[in-house]
Amino acid sequence: MNCPDCGNERTHVIDTGTSADGTSVRRRRECQRCSFRFTTYERPEWESLQVKKRDGTIESFDRQKLRAGIERAVEKRDVVETTVTALVDDIESELQGREARIVSSSLIGELVSENLRTLDKVAYIRFVSVYKAFSEPQEFLRELDAVLDAELDDFDASDSSL
Ligand SMILES: [Zn+2]
Repeated sequence: MNCPDCGNERTHVIDTGTSADGTSVRRRRECQRCSFRFTTYERPEWESLQVKKRDGTIESFDRQKLRAGIERAVEKRDVVETTVTALVDDIESELQGREARIVSSSLIGELVSENLRTLDKVAYIRFVSVYKAFSEPQEFLRELDAVLDAELDDFDASDSSL
């Protein structure tokens, strides 16, 4: 790569490392003519969106998988199929709109929970209980309390408007 400062073709690598998220190689370079120093990043070019899972493995974004997770949460709830499709569309376009070609599975989890929380509280609780994989019953109860508190606030608000 040519020196960004003087355009000289000869630069050499003075340091090589891995980026903080482990998805690219960072190289510190120095121009052999003007001694200008700059950094280059080398990363694989993904054609499609990739998901980095909690165990560090990377797989292609799978719309069906996302949909299956949402469907499981809204099972037997009063949520129609078109709503699920709209939700999947929203989340997918939110992810595709990001500059990063690799998104974490936890980001997807957060997006789904945010959306389910406003859509259907039971579905939300079902989803987070799987996604957050509660290790302690107290954690689950805390989450449930937070939802119930919000529900009471809603109730108070509608009550006072009567
Ligand atoms: Zn130079």
